[in-house]
Amino acid sequence: MTDKMLETAQNLIRKTGEKLKLSEKVVEEILQPDRVIEVKLTIKGQKGEKKVYQGFRSQHNSILGPYKGGIRFHSSVTREEVIALSTLMSLKCAVAGLPYGGGKGGVIVDPKTLSETELEELSRAYALAIAPFIGAWRDIPAPDVNTNPKIIAWMLDAYEKWLGEKSPAAFTGKPVGLGGSLGRTEATGRGGVVVLSALLTKLSRQLRSKTNKPTIAIQGFGNVGYYFAKIAHESGFEVVAVADSKGAVYVEGGLSPETTLNCKQEKGTVAGCYCKGSVCDIKFGKAIDSESLLELPVDVLVPAALENAINTENANKIKAKVIIEMANGPVASAAYPILDKKGIIVVPDILANSGGVIVSYFEWVQSLQGYWWSKEEVNRKLEKQISQAFDAVWQTSQKLKTSLKEAAFAVALARIAQKSSSLF
Ligand code: NAD
Repeated sequence: MTDKMLETAQNLIRKTGEKLKLSEKVVEEILQPDRVIEVKLTIKGQKGEKKVYQGFRSQHNSILGPYKGGIRFHSSVTREEVIALSTLMSLKCAVAGLPYGGGKGGVIVDPKTLSETELEELSRAYALAIAPFIGAWRDIPAPDVNTNPKIIAWMLDAYEKWLGEKSPAAFTGKPVGLGGSLGRTEATGRGGVVVLSALLTKLSRQLRSKTNKPTIAIQGFGNVGYYFAKIAHESGFEVVAVADSKGAVYVEGGLSPETTLNCKQEKGTVAGCYCKGSVCDIKFGKAIDSESLLELPVDVLVPAALENAINTENANKIKAKVIIEMANGPVASAAYPILDKKGIIVVPDILANSGGVIVSYFEWVQSLQGYWWSKEEVNRKLEKQISQAFDAVWQTSQKLKTSLKEAAFAVALARIAQKSSSLF
């Protein structure tokens, strides 16, 4: 799947390059990563045995600034996957107007099979193995799938010991007590809601009609899905359905994300969190399956869980008018033409979920200054930065008469090409 992700991104880069009449040299440069580091990681297992893992760090392109991107721990990590994801990070940072190139790291491991001590050892071993290639002005890793602030704290500690000095700006996604930024946890969801609001403002202007309380269905109720739901609810949207890996719930009049989260923590899933009756009478609602959530007649569909959730099998059944790609690659490339034909607007992941990397950038700036901002200041700056990114993509899509995805690629490539031509 992800191997195809690289091919799809490369094809769109080529197509956009032609449309923008970029020099072939610039396009070729963006197609290949600058460097892919491959490392062997050896740790001591619980019974004293030797355990060996393979890790990668892809540094895609540093024209706009140091490489930036997460590190994932997953059994399906491949060299191609980290290259694809680092390519998309270069484009995401460029769309968001950040002074970064793209990077991505990964270790082939199922972290659920490791003890806490083994996980710490592996995290430290990975940081040490890539230490000569990273740094505050070189490559700034962050958490990604199955990695978190605690893992980043171990990695930063190992890196600083290797370096012989403090360097909090070398990693982002740190715990707040160790120099992390306030507002980072909810940043991706918050950014997505800002983008959705900006889009609906444009559409209501263009269509001359307004829906008072647009309805939303969200697939995924983890970090991104929950905060998207919470902030959308607070902003006056009606969240009518949410799904996690074990099921989904639909509440016609709209649900309370906080109540649903409390229920999920208690029951282990959102399914069945709302029902009719005296025992569990929060509000009328019903359990549905995750697949039918995607096909609900809502205004906005938010895939915030899986890659390729919307594909050629279900694209024809989608009834939403707008899809906000909050997960990475939730709409399969072959599904785009089907959605386009149905007049469904898709906001691409490299714009929609860029709130996370934007606040990671703010964390880096704060860490470099040694001066930390309030949550309100972080949120204000996030809103400004992502709104500007949306405006650039929207205007480009109007000018070039393209989808928002093609426009986002065009904005990113034009920015990279402009800096590149001023350098060479
Ligand atoms: P998470 O692990 O916190 O949450 C994932 C959610 O998806 C969980 O609620 C899980 O139950 C649900 N899920 C899994 N399989 C499902 C299925 N088959 N049907 C319905 N729900 C299912 O992860 P997250 O941090 O929220 O990230 C979600 C997506 O957003 C990923 O694609 C990630 O790469 C992307 N993303 C995350 C961030 C960030 O800041 N966390 C930033 C950019 C992109």
